[in-house]
Amino acid sequence: MTGVRRCSSGSGSLPELPEVETLRRELEPRLRGRVIRSLSTFPSRVFQLDPAVLEAAVTGQTIRAVSRRAKYLIFELDRWYWIIHLGMTGQLTVPDDFGESNGSGLGGDAHIALVARLSGARILVFRDVRKFGRVMLLSRDGSGLGSRLGSLGPEPLGSGYLLEDFLGRLGKRKARIKSLLLDQKVVAGVGNIYADEALFEAGVHPARRVRYIRRWEKVKLFEAIPRVLERAVRHGGTTLQDYRRSSGNPGEFQSMLKVYGRDGLSCAQCGSTIQKTVISQRGSHFCPNCQPRKPRPRPVA
Ligand SMILES: [Zn+2]
Repeated sequence: MTGVRRCSSGSGSLPELPEVETLRRELEPRLRGRVIRSLSTFPSRVFQLDPAVLEAAVTGQTIRAVSRRAKYLIFELDRWYWIIHLGMTGQLTVPDDFGESNGSGLGGDAHIALVARLSGARILVFRDVRKFGRVMLLSRDGSGLGSRLGSLGPEPLGSGYLLEDFLGRLGKRKARIKSLLLDQKVVAGVGNIYADEALFEAGVHPARRVRYIRRWEKVKLFEAIPRVLERAVRHGGTTLQDYRRSSGNPGEFQSMLKVYGRDGLSCAQCGSTIQKTVISQRGSHFCPNCQPRKPRPRPVA
């Protein structure tokens, strides 16, 4: 077992779907049914609306559910969808130990964007060092949430993820398969890390052009995507740098990555050296033996 190298290039696009889904599954039972007693905001460019409007809107509202669409975490309130996107370095935590019960023990941290005080002596803290995160508020009236979050493809962990639809979205395009997997209109929530891992699992080279990929290979890829994502969720997501679970602890999936960030190391499946190439300006990791550039004949089952 080779050690896991830290990603220092910043080419990772964490958090991706599994990290946000891990957070959602942890936050939901701890926050559902709690009333937002008050909200304190601090100057930060993460707010997509006047923070005073946000404070007034959410105060007194009950958190009915915590849901997710792609990489958006959605607090379903009585009248609003309160939406947080973690960006690159956002951390959403429910600390058990935060000093005094009003959260004042968190003072002095310049990266905290907001602190929500909830019923049952809980607080919810959003902290974002690089401030690519986003805090939004949408009314529950009117058109569905989906259309207002942009044109996102199906959720790979949801019931709307269907083979024929997936094949249709890939089409017969000239584009390289890795680029298409990163397109949120094809599959929502998949970023650089899990695209590389799913391609490895399906045995498909990331630089292959979609129109030359056989149907049976696309089927393998269709099946590999949710499998890789679900496995990552089970291990609390991947932590390369900033991602933290709601407890403040890192995820554990980084030790199970098969190709991402492992260039120069040997493939656990065949022993060949993992390589790295750049596709659509993103570092792409693959095993040249398990993911040949030229398609192999379909294996006989
Ligand atoms: Zn290999």
